[in-house]
Amino acid sequence: MSDRTLSPEEQDGDHDRALRPQRLADFVGQPAARANLEVFVKAAASRSEALDHVLLVGPPGLGKTTMAQIVAKELGVGFRSTSGPVIAKAGDLAALLTNLEERDVLFIDEIHRLSPHVEEILYPAMEDFQLDLIIGEGPAARSVKIDLAKFTLVGATTRLGLLTTPLRDRFGIPLRLEFYSVEDLTTIIRRGANLMGIATTDEGAVEIARRSRGTPRIAGRLLRRVRDFAIVGGAEAIDREIADSALLRLDVDAAGLDALDRRYLKLIAENYGGGPVGIETMAAALSEPRDALEDIVEPYLLQQGYLQRTPRGRLLTARAFEHLGIEAPRGPGQ
Ligand code: ADP
Repeated sequence: MSDRTLSPEEQDGDHDRALRPQRLADFVGQPAARANLEVFVKAAASRSEALDHVLLVGPPGLGKTTMAQIVAKELGVGFRSTSGPVIAKAGDLAALLTNLEERDVLFIDEIHRLSPHVEEILYPAMEDFQLDLIIGEGPAARSVKIDLAKFTLVGATTRLGLLTTPLRDRFGIPLRLEFYSVEDLTTIIRRGANLMGIATTDEGAVEIARRSRGTPRIAGRLLRRVRDFAIVGGAEAIDREIADSALLRLDVDAAGLDALDRRYLKLIAENYGGGPVGIETMAAALSEPRDALEDIVEPYLLQQGYLQRTPRGRLLTARAFEHLGIEAPRGPGQ
């Protein structure tokens, strides 16, 4: 596995938390999602009602957890956090739900990975704030209903298509997070550098921002590593040159692609004549889980125009060949 974000909880977790914006006003980027949330949060707060359930969709590291925490802070309510794969039994979820207080936010990360029987518990909880539990077995089994506090569920997922339709339909506020612009990432990096007490020049911050795959989590990690190189090299501030040489040593190329991105593109270019190639073939050839390719690698390559998705598989664009310095094959579809 590459050392990127294939495992979302990385070793820098504590630093990440220190850099996390605490209020909506400090949250840089995502103007559309932020503006919508602002309205709905204000409206809910002024009616002293629980906010409608929120679904946050987007690749890892774009700020879904951060936004969920901010929602709770802005509403002035409690925040509980869990994740889909962690909730093994219906009883685990029931315990979580019965412990919520009025208007609390319950955050479920990777909500698409809830098991079907746990998901069924969630439907009446979201809709009617009720738990339907079956107690006992066989003929003696009976169903009991338990009233819950009116809470807000904030679910996060990497892809909307992974959610079952009944679950998706129960979220009143679906919000999609997009990759960040270089400008927004530059602001985030400058703020992070300030918090870390390290100086950066404008060009230094932009260089890291440009090469962060549109993702604040990656920006934060690259900033910390570039800082290490700067400190060891005795530099006063992170300038463009220091950023560039550190990023190259971290295997982040001039366009901001990392080793796995390049392995992915090269495989299609060199072994499959530019594609189309099916995702299963790619996953097997790269020894990476299919989910990781679809959640982490491909969204950015698609957004940057290196890749196209077609019904017959993945297809490289002229831009990808140019980036790899490989001549594009001529033929139909090219
Ligand atoms: P996700 O839940 O989508 O995987 P997180 O909310 O955990 O992403 O964000 C990853 C890290 O990126 C956070 O720890 C935070 O430091 C940083 N981050 C995310 N969004 C922003 C933002 N808008 N401004 C500043 N930092 C951010």
